[in-house]
Amino acid sequence: TPRLTAEEVARAEARTAHNYHPLPVVITHGEGAWVTDVDGRRFLDMLAGYSALNFGHANPRLVAAAHAQLDRLTLTSRAFVHDRFADFCAGLADLCGKELVLPMNTGAEAVETALKVARKWGYEIKAVPADSARVVVASGNFHGRTTTIVGFSDDPDARGGFGPFTPGFDLVPYGDLAAVEAALTPSTVAVLVEPIQGEGGVVIPPAGYLAGLRALCTRERVLLVADEIQSGLGRTGATFACDHEDVVPDLYVLGKALGGGIVPVSAVVGDRDVLGVLRPGQHGSTFGGNPLACAVAIEVVEMLRTGEHQARAAELGVLLHDRLAGLVGKGVVSFRSRGLWADVDIDPALGTGRDICARLLAHGVLAKDTHGSTIRLAPPLVISADDLHWGLDQLEGSLR
Ligand code: PLP
Repeated sequence: TPRLTAEEVARAEARTAHNYHPLPVVITHGEGAWVTDVDGRRFLDMLAGYSALNFGHANPRLVAAAHAQLDRLTLTSRAFVHDRFADFCAGLADLCGKELVLPMNTGAEAVETALKVARKWGYEIKAVPADSARVVVASGNFHGRTTTIVGFSDDPDARGGFGPFTPGFDLVPYGDLAAVEAALTPSTVAVLVEPIQGEGGVVIPPAGYLAGLRALCTRERVLLVADEIQSGLGRTGATFACDHEDVVPDLYVLGKALGGGIVPVSAVVGDRDVLGVLRPGQHGSTFGGNPLACAVAIEVVEMLRTGEHQARAAELGVLLHDRLAGLVGKGVVSFRSRGLWADVDIDPALGTGRDICARLLAHGVLAKDTHGSTIRLAPPLVISADDLHWGLDQLEGSLR
């Protein structure tokens, strides 16, 4: 490890809680799909902030929007209205084909918001008995880190030591429509699902699962809440992963790329008959929907409106899929991919996922292990085909 990197890593380690185990690289600059570190080395970013950087580092259009807004107005709180708010809400609602937007900041906050909305909808509209609302969730889920959310995780690391937890959740196997149906009760208000599981391992449910959930939820008067925080906004080759089955959920939960990799921006998007249950004083956030966030997110929505980024993810996704398929049996045991998003299971004999990521780092590529011997690949959607090939060459090289 070069000198400045070693020093900075040690200084950071000394003064931060160890809730992460970062790879030893200290980044100073980023542009497009590439970053530079304190020692002047360049790396191809094949993680893209877990899809928060779908449009690349320092995307000129997004940076310009942020700069212009910084000089003018950054925060009002929702006690007042600011002049970027309406455009943000209308643009995002239209992108989703929905009526209303409820802005928050982080993904976990948006998930919490959707859960609160679903419960209130249940009591006020579905007439579920007070304090008895239930939400069906899936095994292997990852929806964030709040106490309520980790309480319905089945990952021992995520939940262990953090109880007691919020009641009212029913966990069923992911991808199993019959299990969801069997878990429904008269008090069930929502099914909360990642249309493709991200942290669970880019797990693509069986064909028909999402469409089946849609039909089931409509029939049983249960809200379908799609957590598209990682899967949405172009990553899979469509605006939303739900689009692959022509499914429209009752609530979209969005985050990560919505803030263009510049500011945290999340949102719950739905129609008036659902989001309308919230009245003044019942939910909020000091920073949610702030002018800087809106200025960046307005551009993000504009960029997604043309469909070019989605098309690019689909096109490069074929390249990614074909290259990974060529590595199966040559150090790769299996992989799952959709669009420009893949989890790759490395032959454990070659080392842990972390070992492989350390080797990739030495080859000039940033990627992150998820569980065991699996690594996540989610390069920015603006990556060039040549760079993607080069990054996959490095993966191939690091498996030798
Ligand atoms: N939901 C999904 C599907 C995610 O992948 C994540 C983050 O990885 C979250 C929610 C939580 O988002 P945040 O870390 O912004 O709270």
